[in-house]
This record gives sequence, C-alpha cells and structure tokens, in this order.
Amino acid sequence: MKKIIIAIDGESSSGKSTLAKSLAKQISYKHLNTGSMYRAVTFTALQAGFLFNDKMNTESIIKLTEKLNFEFKLLNQHSNLFVNGVNIEKEIKSPEVSDLVSQVSTIFEVRKKIVKIQRDMGIEKGIVMEGRDIGSVVFPSAELKLFITADINIRAERRYKELKANNQSVTKKSVLENLKKRDFIDKNREHSPLVKVHDAILIDNSHLNISDQISLIINYLKKNL
Ligand code: C5P
Repeated sequence: MKKIIIAIDGESSSGKSTLAKSLAKQISYKHLNTGSMYRAVTFTALQAGFLFNDKMNTESIIKLTEKLNFEFKLLNQHSNLFVNGVNIEKEIKSPEVSDLVSQVSTIFEVRKKIVKIQRDMGIEKGIVMEGRDIGSVVFPSAELKLFITADINIRAERRYKELKANNQSVTKKSVLENLKKRDFIDKNREHSPLVKVHDAILIDNSHLNISDQISLIINYLKKNL
C-alpha cells in the first residue's frame, strides 16, 4: 500500500492517542501526538512565569516558543518529547498544564511555529498525526481524515482513571470541568479551531473498543486506498 497521511482530530480525551498509537503500530507508520507540543510550550511558559491562572504574557510566550527545539525520541518503545534536550514527557501531562494549554494554543505565532515542524515531520508520509487541526490546517490534503468523539461523561471517566493511574491528585468533577473548558476554547478560538471537516469520517467511540475501531479503519483503507 502506498504511504499516506492519516489525520486524526477530535475532542479532549476522546481516545485519539490510544487509537493513533495502535493504528500506527498495526500498519508500521510513525505516530505524532501534536498536543504534546502545545503542552510543552505551556509547561515552559509556566516555568518561566509567563502564565498565571487565567492570564498570560503573550509576547513573552511567543519569544520563548521561538527558542524551543522539539525532538521526539523512542524510549522503551514509547515516544518521549525532549525540549531543548530535556525529557518533559511526564511534566506535560500535569493538571496545571492541562488547565492552561488551550489558552496558550490560541496564540497564532505559537501555532505557526508548531505547524511548520509538524508539516516537516509528515513530509515523507507514512504517519498517523493526531491533534485538533491536522485535517483542517496541518494536512488538509491528508488521504484519510478521522474525527473522534465520545460522550463527555465517558471521556471524563477515562481521563480520570488515566490520571489516577499516574498518581495525579484530581477529582472526577475537576476532570470533567477541564474537558468542557478545553473543548469550548478549542472549538471557539479564532485560529485553527477544532472542527470536523466535511471529508473526515466521524467515529463516536463511546461504546467501541480499540480493536473495533482499528478493524473499522483497516477495512476502510483496504476498500478505498
Ligand atoms: O491532545 P491533547 O489533549 O494533549 O492537547 C492539549 C491541547 O493542545 C488541546 O486541548 C488544544 O488546546 C491544543 N492542541 C491544539 N492543536 C493540536 C493539538 C492540540 O490546539 N493540533
């Protein structure tokens, strides 16, 4: 099969990462979780003191982003994000980062730099790229576009279990609130809002397990590409 780009977009905690990772493994493609890059900018901005509660120093965050070098390295078969040589894979998943990342992601200049890197990473195709604007902005000509969703309460429950398994101190209520807040900002921002583009296939995985979803996609690929 000729190498293609598979763009997976969708709401927060809709299971995009699990799906993207498993699919990439199954068809021997590269996998890129683009959310980790926005999370990395947020983490470094927090560390630098450019983000406080719901306020941010946009100009400083733009300058800081210019200085960031992103590298993905495989460690124990898991992709880890290094920023300026430091592995920050664990830090970017913290509740503080989750709380502020959608705000940082509204900054046009931050998106511009990150989108360029993502386009370069996809240039040779053979990649499953997941995020919010992959099918709409990063690779509008991707051969396969998927839009993933699930019931908000099911998404919150999954996220809560995942965070608890990583020893994060969160409540179900705070997780649900964070998902609602992020979805709202992501769908309503001025630049590259989260949308289901007309040629994306909608998958509601509220009641689908991962192998159901993979079979569905592999069958589609066999029939159509
Ligand atoms: O995928 P994840 O939930 O880790 O993404 C974190 C945040 O990064 C999203 O809520 C969104 O604000 C931002 N994001 C984005 N564009 C992408 C990927 C993520 O704006 N392509």
